Amino acid sequence: MAERPRGEPTAQTLRLAETPIPQPGKGQMLLRTRYLSLDPYMRGRMSDAPSYAAPVEVGGVMVGGTVAEVVSSDIDGFAVGDLVLSGNGWQDYALSDGTGVTNLGKTPEHPSWALGIMGMPGFTAWAGLTQIGTPKAGETLVVAAATGPVGATVGQIGKLMGLRVIGIAGGPEKCAYAVEELGFDACLDHKTDDLAAQLKQACPAGIDIYFENVGGKVLDAVIPLLNPFARVPVCGLVSQYNATSLPDGPDRMNWLMGNVLRKKLRVQGFIIFDNFGHLYPEFAKAMMAWIKEGKIKYREEIIDGLENAPEAFIGLLRGENFGKRVIRVS
Ligand code: NDP
Repeated sequence: MAERPRGEPTAQTLRLAETPIPQPGKGQMLLRTRYLSLDPYMRGRMSDAPSYAAPVEVGGVMVGGTVAEVVSSDIDGFAVGDLVLSGNGWQDYALSDGTGVTNLGKTPEHPSWALGIMGMPGFTAWAGLTQIGTPKAGETLVVAAATGPVGATVGQIGKLMGLRVIGIAGGPEKCAYAVEELGFDACLDHKTDDLAAQLKQACPAGIDIYFENVGGKVLDAVIPLLNPFARVPVCGLVSQYNATSLPDGPDRMNWLMGNVLRKKLRVQGFIIFDNFGHLYPEFAKAMMAWIKEGKIKYREEIIDGLENAPEAFIGLLRGENFGKRVIRVS
């Protein structure tokens, strides 16, 4: 990372640097990155504002989840040629002592899925919906960023649990995909002028679960429609990640808290592995079965070349991605 961005990251935020390939020592392995996950949380790591995780240092390697190949190993359980789920960050090679690294075997069917539907985003969708959303068949669920790895999974699990699912996404193509391919009951384009009115029409019985991915004007449209005892898993606020100040207009904090109080809402933030790490095996079992039965669909957008990661990341925060964005590094 070359400099901390103010607002949207730019071409100057990250810099490509060449250094010698590190030499593994005793009890270490050398990993070669095959796939790098791009995720909205990375914007938070570029900032030194207080957060749940330490920022990346200026001059340091940008963090990131990776699928990598073991090039050499002095660790039991990791052999040359194994693919692993690791945190190499935005670089071709990394050393590891095996801590926090999962062996995926030599020939996993879809190696990059460990960064998406079977990994952090898929798990986030499942845990946020089932543990905080506590769905009951017949209820209405609203989720934005509806075609991304979290939102698409939330909505599809919602349908499997008998919910009425309303997606919100950027543009008609994404909305058509959410309804026709993912099976959502409806999907609204947040770029239109009358989102609040459309949402009201799409939710005649109000909203019982709002899976919060984006904040901003989507949240504004949702709050008046929340039913008594509605649940709001607060997963992310991606519309605000590049913001440099609070939005214009009157302070609406007390309006929001008044809704929380009067409607007895349950609004709970979560950081997936901090809150729910112990549930990963339960998630993996359920998700594997759903995928095998063809009940959950997953869309990836693979972009070649580490050198293209900065631009791809800037585009992710703008909604230019259509599905889970992954960089094929080698
Ligand atoms: P996505 O791949 O869905 O990418 C982000 C999407 O957000 C964009 O594609 C865009 O979709 C949408 N978006 C961007 N700006 C706006 C805006 N102003 N208004 C409405 N939508 C906008 O991301 P993920 O599925 O990986 O992540 C979704 C959310 O989940 C993020 O907030 C992320 O930070 C959070 N998250 C939280 C975790 C946790 O532990 N709490 C773990 C993992 C993810 P579109 O074009 O459809 O608007």
